[in-house]
Amino acid sequence: MHLKLILRSKNTFNKQIQSKMNSSIKDNALKFVDFLNRNPSPYHVVESARQMLQKAGFQELRITEKWSTRNGGKYFVTKNDSTLMAFTIGGKYQFGNGFAVVGAHTDSPALKLKLNSKKSKVGYLQVGVECYGGGIWHTWFDRDLTVAGRVLLKENDKVIQRLVHIKRPILRIPNLAIHLNRETNDKFSPNKETHLVPILATVVQEELLNKSRGITKKTPSTDEIPSQVDKHQSLLIDLLVDELNCNREDIIDVELILADCQPAVLGGLLEEFIFGGRLDNQVGAYCTIQGLIDSLENSNLDDDSIVRMGCIYDHEEIGSESAQGAASSFTEHVMRRLNDATTFELAMARSFMISADQAHAVHPNYSEVHEENHRPSINGGIVLKYNGNQRYATNSISAAILRESAKLVDVPVQDFMVKNDCACGSTIGPILSAKLGLTTVDIGAPQLAMHSIRETGSTVSITQMTNLLSSFYSNFTKIRNQFSNLM
Ligand SMILES: [Zn+2]
Repeated sequence: MHLKLILRSKNTFNKQIQSKMNSSIKDNALKFVDFLNRNPSPYHVVESARQMLQKAGFQELRITEKWSTRNGGKYFVTKNDSTLMAFTIGGKYQFGNGFAVVGAHTDSPALKLKLNSKKSKVGYLQVGVECYGGGIWHTWFDRDLTVAGRVLLKENDKVIQRLVHIKRPILRIPNLAIHLNRETNDKFSPNKETHLVPILATVVQEELLNKSRGITKKTPSTDEIPSQVDKHQSLLIDLLVDELNCNREDIIDVELILADCQPAVLGGLLEEFIFGGRLDNQVGAYCTIQGLIDSLENSNLDDDSIVRMGCIYDHEEIGSESAQGAASSFTEHVMRRLNDATTFELAMARSFMISADQAHAVHPNYSEVHEENHRPSINGGIVLKYNGNQRYATNSISAAILRESAKLVDVPVQDFMVKNDCACGSTIGPILSAKLGLTTVDIGAPQLAMHSIRETGSTVSITQMTNLLSSFYSNFTKIRNQFSNLM
């Protein structure tokens, strides 16, 4: 009897927790978690965005072709399959009317396979990796790792790209036992070249497997030009061939990164948090695309007089300088195609950009690193980022336009500035704002442990960010009228 009572009260408590959270907030967060779990690399992010847009009736354009876009149309275009721009042209659009732009990024810090990744040491087969971006690399130790990315394949007389995501833990970067490194809890700074090399298998087991398959290892002659696949562990290439159901000879090259196998989840006793990697900046990428799609349900495209544009860029984590990064001419080229020679500058002056990247929530164990008046909480709303030295592009006008968009959908906005004695991060905001002369605001969803392999995000922020961006797309022309003397 006593035991039964306890069990009943336990069940009730769990039900109370479940019903406490607004179901749409939880559903939206779970949809994002699913997105995150499907996208271990920028190529996967772009492919998922492509699918979301196609489902919503957007048409894919190619940058290598001439476009015949029309008012009321919905389109998207990609570059390198790692950057994507989606846009809708209002029914009442005329050249020069301007753009409501949201920008985010598809890449996250990660370990990438080196060009020649084949390594072996003291009986282990290893995979050489390069550090991409500013990861917290010690968090990559003792994790169940896999590979994901793209493989270029010959198909008839064409070269095609296939995405790959091995869904089992095939790699590991083991820690050194405390007995062999007594200082590990006081200082642990792994050498990025020598200590971060994951193990794939052992030589002994590879030889046994090869024997059972009747494979004898050939030593390549010195005058033979090695193929790209020969530069990586043979076992790894065999796995890719199997996964893609292709011929080994057809592989032209591989571009792979390492990823955590543990799926992202909602966490914390009250499910307020998102535990997962790459929140920076797949939160921004997902909400940019979802916000654009949602805005079409909330306001009629036929009555719209501007271009709504969602851009998700590769290479933010390494400074955006690449053919498909935010510092490239790609954005300008796309925008020019939607104007003529006499209206482009006018369009830029009338446009506005939200740069949506993740923000640092105050950390309970390190609260002193936040400036005392600028301590965003994890579930306190979307964070507006300001830096007078222009590490963020926000000013009082762009902040006011942002706050107005948020007010219309009841999304709370929090403020963030770094302390004077702390270096400030940056985003694509200042880059695009300088390049195109766009009035720009920098915002982000709050999170902890940015750039860890497993970050801590905010469940409610997915709904807040999507609603805010959707509100911006739908209401920008109306809000712009109030600020027409100041832009
Ligand atoms: Zn970021």
